[in-house]
Amino acid sequence: MIRLDLGAEPRALSRVRAQRLAKAIVLFDKEGVGEALRKSLSGYREAVAEPLFLRQQRRCAYCERPIGLDGNPVEHFRPKREAHRDGGVVDPDRYWWLTWNWENLVLACATCNALKRNHFPLEPGTQPMQTPSRPIGRKLPDAAFDVSRERPLLLDPRRDQPHLHCRWTVDDDQLPMSEWKWRLWTCSARARRTAKLLELDAVTDEVNQIYAASVLPQWETVAAMVAQDPRAAVVAWGLTEGRLLKEPCAFPLAVWSMLDRLRSEGQLAALKLPSPPPPVATWPRP
Ligand SMILES: [Zn+2]
Repeated sequence: MIRLDLGAEPRALSRVRAQRLAKAIVLFDKEGVGEALRKSLSGYREAVAEPLFLRQQRRCAYCERPIGLDGNPVEHFRPKREAHRDGGVVDPDRYWWLTWNWENLVLACATCNALKRNHFPLEPGTQPMQTPSRPIGRKLPDAAFDVSRERPLLLDPRRDQPHLHCRWTVDDDQLPMSEWKWRLWTCSARARRTAKLLELDAVTDEVNQIYAASVLPQWETVAAMVAQDPRAAVVAWGLTEGRLLKEPCAFPLAVWSMLDRLRSEGQLAALKLPSPPPPVATWPRP
């Protein structure tokens, strides 16, 4: 998972929200969270699927696999119909009012969507954000959209810096580099919960193929230059980083982790190369 910094919401979404949220509020005021309200939570896909697809650099927001636009769901980080907490607790009242909230939406692959479903565990001892109280009337207060105080146990690619919570590491670095195998390493409870729920290590074989077929050969090319022309090697390594992390590369967190590790290995160590910038899907593109 990498950070998604996706820019301002598409106008189509604000138009859809204005209509649909007003209707949902009427239904909520009339009968609370019931079937009629739940059935009304639609209309967002047409407004955001393509912008999300392009701005996420054609990758799943969670597992980073390259995906197409068709057949892959727009996913709500905070589930729209009910939230499943740890211990089998179901919270039926949250988070319907965030159905059309830009910061709550990502495009995910069908596999991640099926794994995540309505799961939304919170950090132990913390409270969920307040639900709107009836009657709402015309409009929800801005505070209803402030998610900053709620502490989910899952990493949110729209708000968190996933590279601070997880990266890929070498399983056994006593082996020759040509035999290195990479594995997902997590350093926070939130990352561990996210990786377990979404089975983020399921891409391990694909990550190792990228290392063997692409990253290691390019490292070897640059390493061979160091003794003869260190300055040229520095330039070549910069180009290699740019090329390997260029969209729409698969698994940028893994590729970034490899580049960060390999810059200090073997002949390249003498160059004292800086760490590559953490991978972010940014919009508008720089
Ligand atoms: Zn996925």
